[in-house]
Amino acid sequence: KYHNELVELRGNIRVFCRVRPCIKEDGFTNPSQIIVTYDPFDDGLLFIANKTRSQVFELDKVFDEKVSQIEVFEEVRSLVTSCVDGYNVCIFAYGQTGSGKTYTMEGPQNDPGINQRALQELFSETQERGIDWEYSISVSVLEIYNENIRDLLNDEGLKLEIKMKADGGGLHVPGLKTVEVTSLNHVNQVFLTGQKNRATATTNLNEHSSRSHLILNIEVTGYNKTTNTRTRGKLNLVDLAGSERVSRSGADGARLKEAQNINKSLSCLGDVIHSLRSKQNHIPYRNSKLTYLLQDSLGGESKTLMIVQVSPVDKNISETVCTLNFAQRVR
Ligand code: ADP
Ligand code: MG
Repeated sequence: KYHNELVELRGNIRVFCRVRPCIKEDGFTNPSQIIVTYDPFDDGLLFIANKTRSQVFELDKVFDEKVSQIEVFEEVRSLVTSCVDGYNVCIFAYGQTGSGKTYTMEGPQNDPGINQRALQELFSETQERGIDWEYSISVSVLEIYNENIRDLLNDEGLKLEIKMKADGGGLHVPGLKTVEVTSLNHVNQVFLTGQKNRATATTNLNEHSSRSHLILNIEVTGYNKTTNTRTRGKLNLVDLAGSERVSRSGADGARLKEAQNINKSLSCLGDVIHSLRSKQNHIPYRNSKLTYLLQDSLGGESKTLMIVQVSPVDKNISETVCTLNFAQRVR
């Protein structure tokens, strides 16, 4: 939670962990194959142990496998609505493929994740802010694959670049389509378009989505008629590419290049957050498209939440430990 004292002490970066429940892909699981345990008195601790290793990790909050989509959203609600006050916010889902990133961000239709709940919350929050204020909410949906940016609301397949605005006022992506949204129905239509465009020119959507970053960018602008003041805040909701390591042997050229690009952008994201955290002078935003694109929403007054996703079963333990090491590094 963003208590003022905490912000002063720890900055605007939080790291949560969500453990997904067992799924049928885990195969038959007897209790000895579960490697996660929790501390009943401290919801920031996570214990990982199997027959050969045991380690404890400290996070800002741990969601166990029983925590619902609603409960997760309750913990990010105030972060989401802070963009109505003009803050820039990033929420990332990080973890190996199959750890629940898309479940947390997008979620199943009948139990949506953060993306849809955030927009719903922004609609109601902006309506409650009084008659003096006029708000507009617009979204863009894009993907970064192999260090290329692709607009998912525009199927013309344009290659997009990040440019500095001529007036020096930050970064933008010329040609990127943004859509003003006015209702949740409208939002869901926009999401469907994005999904359809993502699937075209993709032979295996599952594989493709595990190797690309999906970014939902929401911009909230407000205008107060009485005081003639304006606010502008951004919320970036990011379903990151799978963090699993790819073995060099066995991967063909194209696959290896993809893997290197993913490694590069995820480790660059880690570097950026780590250097913000440790208050370094140089923040290496430019080392990847992802961090360059999100530059004005990472650092400064911006707020960042990293949700690291892990699997509860033994066969994934080494990726789970890697994910939690990443979490410790940025926290
Ligand atoms: P990722 O996007 O990280 O590859 P997914 O979100 O696709 O992972 O999750 C993998 C599988 O686990 C999916 O079948 C998903 O429905 C299921 N799953 C993940 N998290 C949860 C959860 N909290 N509750 C129920 N099922 C989940
Ligand atoms: Mg996914």
